[in-house]
Amino acid sequence: MSTGKINVAVENIFPLIKKFLYSDHEIFLRELISNATDATTKLQHLSSLGEIKGDLGDLTIEVKVDKKAKKIHIIDQGVGMTEEEVQKYINEVAFSGAEEFLEQYKDSAKDSGIIGHFGLGFYSAFMVAEKVEILTRSHKEEPGAHWVCDGSPEYTLETTDKESRGTEIILHIDKDSKEFLEEARIKELLQKYNKFMPIPIKFGTKEESLPLPEGAAEDAKSEMVTVDNIINNPNPAWTQKPADLKEENYKSFYRELYPMQFEEPLFNIHLNVDYPFKLTGILYFPRLNNDLNIQKDRIQLYQNQVFVTDNVEGIVPEFLTLLRGVIDSPDIPLNVSRSYLQADGAVKKISNYITRKVADKLSSLFKKDRKAFEEKWNDIKVVIEYGMLSEDKFYEKADNFALYPTTEGEYFTFEELKESIKDLQTDKDDKLILLYASDIDAQHSYIEQAKNKGYKVLLLDSPIISHLIQKLEGSKENISFARVDGDTIENLIKKEETSVSKLTDEEKEKLKPMIEEVIKEGGYTVQLEPLDSSTLPFVLTQPEFMRRMKEMQQTGGGGMMGNMPDMYNLVVNTNHELVGQILNTKTQKKKERLIQQALDLAKLSQNLLKGEALTQFIQRSVDLIK
Ligand code: ADP
Ligand code: MG
Repeated sequence: MSTGKINVAVENIFPLIKKFLYSDHEIFLRELISNATDATTKLQHLSSLGEIKGDLGDLTIEVKVDKKAKKIHIIDQGVGMTEEEVQKYINEVAFSGAEEFLEQYKDSAKDSGIIGHFGLGFYSAFMVAEKVEILTRSHKEEPGAHWVCDGSPEYTLETTDKESRGTEIILHIDKDSKEFLEEARIKELLQKYNKFMPIPIKFGTKEESLPLPEGAAEDAKSEMVTVDNIINNPNPAWTQKPADLKEENYKSFYRELYPMQFEEPLFNIHLNVDYPFKLTGILYFPRLNNDLNIQKDRIQLYQNQVFVTDNVEGIVPEFLTLLRGVIDSPDIPLNVSRSYLQADGAVKKISNYITRKVADKLSSLFKKDRKAFEEKWNDIKVVIEYGMLSEDKFYEKADNFALYPTTEGEYFTFEELKESIKDLQTDKDDKLILLYASDIDAQHSYIEQAKNKGYKVLLLDSPIISHLIQKLEGSKENISFARVDGDTIENLIKKEETSVSKLTDEEKEKLKPMIEEVIKEGGYTVQLEPLDSSTLPFVLTQPEFMRRMKEMQQTGGGGMMGNMPDMYNLVVNTNHELVGQILNTKTQKKKERLIQQALDLAKLSQNLLKGEALTQFIQRSVDLIK
């Protein structure tokens, strides 16, 4: 047997790093600014430990584009490097000085927000540059160093007379990467990746007007001055303590995140944990209404204030991707595929934590100010219902604050609802019947009938409600949902003393085929029922089960029903005078007219009468009253 070490030739690996390290070339700037930020953070840390004495001076990082000379400069005033350190940290690929620093200052630097990790970021410079220079001088009493490398594994390193502390990286931009010599492009990258990084970053200058002195004349012009253009906010709201923030701070941070968004968020949730993982962030509930097609992917993911992605799939539970805001966690492993992420234990914990925080926040809003919660319900229900459907842990909590509004504008929790209808709305098996409507206008006549009998009708109109209803029926005992137009109220809520039919069995046997003959083209199932005499002579209903399956299919999931047509039952009210009249009319012509008229009235009440049928109905009505 023999053992040994695999020998990797640098000449072969280097081009690979250049090409495949990151799929996105633009991240070179993020990496170099991250290094500059780390160098400055380290300096501040050493100063706080007393290892560096005296004033640190200005620590602003500067980015400069020199289009003519085809160069980009990234300049910091951080710890810098000695020649020896350049040897160690730069010349040894995949040796991370950041890791080493964290190791050395284990206890104190744990939360310092050092970004670097793998010791590869620096080399991303070669994705856009044909030559890279480092000019650096350490905070230690040592001369400066000058390193130059043209992308081959050979470099030069020599002493130089740089006077100021810190590091300047000079990228000689490759001809394939000319886009990065455009100021607008760099500005865009800074906005995307560095907007909230912890050390101020300067990019060019801007004109600013000085405030007018007190008592200045109305037409006085304020003086313009040129100031540094700082592109970032080093202390974004999520990095601050919740106790130090007011409602207004959260709102203004929202505007900072989404400058093009004019509507204010409904409320926010400040995330803040240290153990067993580190995570901070702020989530906002936007107004959602019933719109499921709103843009997802509005949550931004950061690691130590560096923007990583706005695709949080796999990290945040699906139902929360409807929210907005930021999440910052150095503990999310992003170097693995998304499908692997979902199985990762740490990510699972993070996802569970976020779900729990959202549920707790909603619960406390509900308890603290029920009225305000009810007012927001219409805008937040989609997220809550979606969560109840997809996350069992969320369902358990949300069951206590999820609301069921009635068509009268009352709001009940599920338990309250059960309590309030338990004596009135049951079927013959004592099952509770929860009547609901999905559209107040379209189902108006049905709602009215139910209300006249003293029943409560819920208004459930969110796009995923049929899925939730299905779930509630499966998990709660002895309840059943029924849409008001799903069947006649008398059939749904059956009492012992079912009203008796005014027609004899014999008469009924005559009536049914009589009607079926006239309306045979509509494909209705005819049903005779002794309804209230105040109910219409004919009523159209749509079987609850079929309709619900169809709806569920339209919003994802639920059976293989194909594109099935709507199906209606025609319920004939045998207690209605007009039905008696139909039975007793002698002339066939008149009989048919009455049946047709009764059917059209039923359709009309449900907004189903259209086109030629409507014209005929009007003509027939005119004839009848002539
Ligand atoms: P990482 O940041 O993951 O450690 P990099 O390849 O980005 O890896 O950088 C390698 C090392 O080079 C850093 O850890 C740091 O020690 C050193 N370094 C890079 N840029 C700077 C800089 N601007 N100032 C001081 N040291 C730097
Ligand atoms: Mg780095």
